[in-house]
Amino acid sequence: TELTSLILDRIRDVPDYPQPGVLFKDITPLLADPVALSAVVDELARLAAEVDKVVGIEARGFILAAPVAYRAGAGFVPVRKKGKLPAETFAASYDLEYGSATVEVHRDAFAPGDRVIIVDDVLATGGTARATVELVKRAGAEVVGVAVLMELAFLKGRDRLEDVDLRSLVIV
Ligand code: IMP
Repeated sequence: TELTSLILDRIRDVPDYPQPGVLFKDITPLLADPVALSAVVDELARLAAEVDKVVGIEARGFILAAPVAYRAGAGFVPVRKKGKLPAETFAASYDLEYGSATVEVHRDAFAPGDRVIIVDDVLATGGTARATVELVKRAGAEVVGVAVLMELAFLKGRDRLEDVDLRSLVIV
């Protein structure tokens, strides 16, 4: 579709970042393009219709989730790396290729039963999104979906989100 090429034409492949052998998908050219940015935000906001909160995953998820929340008339909630949120949190850890990572959300971020969509830029192995789903549930909200700009199919992140309505604007 038109949206697909608008996105794909503005994502830059950066070899060997952040480490050798990784082909990093750089979304900054897309963010810098006003037509592509608004098309992406509008499409994600369509998926966020009728939710109470849009959760953004640090850091690039914030860039998309905040305007999506504004557009959808929803609130914005940050999920951050360990140690960054000031008040009481729930934490969830997940395995990385080397070591592990922890994400957190404020314990009082949601009203009971809030309907929530989780937004991030890229779905890779799905570890980050999986941990975020668990966090949102533990904080008492209902995950109505996960929406990403780009899904890297070869990393099979979708397999870790089988119980979730996962929407990807492009799958590569
Ligand atoms: P996962 O946990 O392996 O699915 O990795 C997803 C997280 O890492 C997301 O928060 C992304 O922002 C980030 N990420 C992984 N690969 C890329 C990439 O190629 N480009 C941009 N972000 C990436």
